[in-house]
This record gives sequence, structure tokens and C-alpha cells, in this order.
Amino acid sequence: MKIQKKKNLTSLNTFKVHATADFFAEITSEQELEEALDYASARSIPFEIIGGGSNILFAQDFKGMVIRIRNKGILWDKVKDSDKQKVTASAGEDWHKFVTRCLEKNLYGLENLALIPGTVGGAPIQNIGAYGVEVEEFISSVKVFDVIKKKWISIERKNCGFDYRSSIFKTSDRFIIFSVIFELVRNWEPRLNHKELSAKFFSKKATASVVFDEVCKLRSNKLPDPSVIGNAGSFFKNPIIPMNEFKKLKTKFPDIPFYKTENSSFLKIPAAWLLDYLGWKGKTLEGASVSPKHALIIINSGNASGRNILDLAKKMSSSVLDNFGIMLVPEVRIIGVNSNLLHPT
Ligand SMILES: Cc1cc2nc3c(=O)[nH]c(=O)nc-3n(C[C@H](O)[C@H](O)[C@H](O)COP(=O)(O)OP(=O)(O)OC[C@H]3O[C@@H](n4cnc5c(N)ncnc54)[C@H](O)[C@@H]3O)c2cc1C
Repeated sequence: MKIQKKKNLTSLNTFKVHATADFFAEITSEQELEEALDYASARSIPFEIIGGGSNILFAQDFKGMVIRIRNKGILWDKVKDSDKQKVTASAGEDWHKFVTRCLEKNLYGLENLALIPGTVGGAPIQNIGAYGVEVEEFISSVKVFDVIKKKWISIERKNCGFDYRSSIFKTSDRFIIFSVIFELVRNWEPRLNHKELSAKFFSKKATASVVFDEVCKLRSNKLPDPSVIGNAGSFFKNPIIPMNEFKKLKTKFPDIPFYKTENSSFLKIPAAWLLDYLGWKGKTLEGASVSPKHALIIINSGNASGRNILDLAKKMSSSVLDNFGIMLVPEVRIIGVNSNLLHPT
């Protein structure tokens, strides 16, 4: 394993912001991961794990070691007599390619999550979700290196703490994901509850590959392609607020939309609506802009630094707090500064 010094990270984050890491390593095996961690530990420097870099923002240079997970390989379980099949995918595999390969093998469930950038290892971190499906449903277990106990363990789905854009992997830095075991289905049932999909399939026959194509089409029309314009998808999570707070907001903002949550005392509010209402679409600040198509997406429209993007995010969240009394929480992991900077006291 090669350790690089003063590594330029511009091409390794989809915001395409310039930042350097004092030390950098790409790992392709369990042994290499342990070696990289030993290297950081021997020098008492912090480390950050990255996959595809599609949900991170380097707010400044990183004074430690960035470890990029690059292990490859997919193992298709031989047991084929039931309706389900297990598949073990290495963390460094590209997520969209993995979804495509599952479909080719007639293993279904992940179609609604097509075209989400990043790696297989990045998917459980924030329990990726799109078009009415969250990845947790199809995860059986996750193989990780526990950096506290310094050993390899397997964590069953029920112990992963999966929640809306969250898991134990997102709330703590203790576990490094090396592979994920998925359980996919053969007898496919379309999941078309999301309004954009149900509108498209009213008269069209849904097969898994048609749903996959439709999801890819919808996403390509709506979301900026990170290979063309720097971004990390939704910058903030959709806030979940208590029903009594919602009722107060509804009297002031009668059109405010909402989604039900599993807990009937709480509702989810689309952050994009709050930001759009406040006129954020298309606003620019020092090379960082809010996408003109989607108020929740910050784009690097002109050589922005990570700090420029953070400053814009700070202004957006402050205006939501001032006008709606709602605190927006970033979905993107901010590296280099405390993300509480978004809400200075
Ligand atoms: C255009 C666009 C659209 C998007 N759409 C969606 C969407 O619809 N739904 C959605 O949920 N997300 C979406 N995202 C966000 C992002 O693509 C996902 O969160 C993705 O799963 C991140 O994977 P990654 O490999 O790029 O992770 P990175 O960005 O590299 O890392 C993200 C976090 O995960 C950690 N991490 C990554 N790999 C590992 C590992 N192996 N072990 C431990 N920690 C790890 C990192 O430390 C960091 O905290 C979108 C992003 C973009 C750019």
C-alpha cells in the first residue's frame, strides 16, 4: 500500500472543491486497511474514510490521513431455490454498477435506488433512499472493522440503527465498512408509491427494468450530474417536526407540504419547499450557488472553496430558522470544521 503525502483531493469529492490531505492511502484488502490505520495511529493523526466522495464536503485541508476504500468483488450466493438470494458486495464497488448487475441477474429490489452516486460501502452509512425505498430493507448484514475493539465483526441489520438518512455508521466513526450482504428478491413487486413514479406508471406496465430506466430518466432530468457540475445531492435532510409545531406553521403557511412518518406525532417537511419559499433557488455566493432546478442542492458553480459552500449553507439554514423556526441538519458530512458552525449560538 502506497502512502501519499499532501494529496490533492479535488477529483475525489463530487463538490470538486480543492483540499489536500496530509496523508492519503487507497486500500483494497483487509490487511491494507489495518496497515493504514496503524500508520495513522503511530503518528497520532486523525483519519477520514471516503468512498466515492459524493456525500462529503472538505471545508478545509485535512490535517490527517484520508483512507479511500477501493476493495472490489461481488459474490453471488449459490443457494437459488428460494424467492430470495444473498449477495455479498465489496464496499469499494460502484453503487449504480452494482444495482445494474443485480438487475441483470434477475435479482430485484434496488431499482428505485439506481443512479445514486457513490460506493456500496457508502450506501448503508446514511441508509440511502430515493423514490420511496431505503436501502436498509435489502441489507442482511454489514462486515466492518471496529476501530475501538480493533477487530473484524459482522453487524446484523437489526443492530445497524437504520433510520431516515442515518445509521450507527453515520452517528459514530467506530466502524469501517468492508462489505455488505444484501438479500434481494426474485418475485418482484413494483414500488411505485412515490408520486413521480406513480404518475409515470398509471398506464405503463411496470417491470423492474422499466422502473430502473424511469428512475434514471427522472434523476437525470432533475439532478445536476456531478461529473459536469460539482454537487453532493441534497445538502440538508428533510426536517421532522412534532405535530403541534406543524399545526402552528400551517396557520401561517397554509400551503406547507408534509409527509407522514412512522410516528404519528411527527411529520416530515420537504426542506426544498422551505428553501424555495424563501427564494433560494439560483442564488449565488462566492462561486457557490443553489441549483436553479432544486433548492436543496448546492452546486459549485465557479471554483468555490469548501468554505464558500459552507458559508452559503449557513445562510440558507439561518434563513429557514429565522422564518420557520426549523433547524436544518446537513445530510452531507462536513470535514475539517464542526458542522455546528451552521448554527452558531
Ligand atoms: C447528484 C447526487 C444525487 C444524490 N442522490 C441521493 C439520493 O437520492 N439519496 C441518498 O440517500 N443520497 C444521495 N446522494 C448522496 C450520496 O450519493 C450517497 O450518500 C452515497 O451513498 C455516498 O457514498 P460515497 O461512497 O460517495 O460516500 P462518501 O461521500 O465517500 O462518504 C460519505 C460518508 O460515508 C463515510 N463512508 C464512506 N464509505 C465508507 C466505508 N466503507 N466505511 C465507513 N464509512 C464510510 C464517509 O466517512 C462519510 O462520512 C446523492 C449525491 C449526489 C452527488
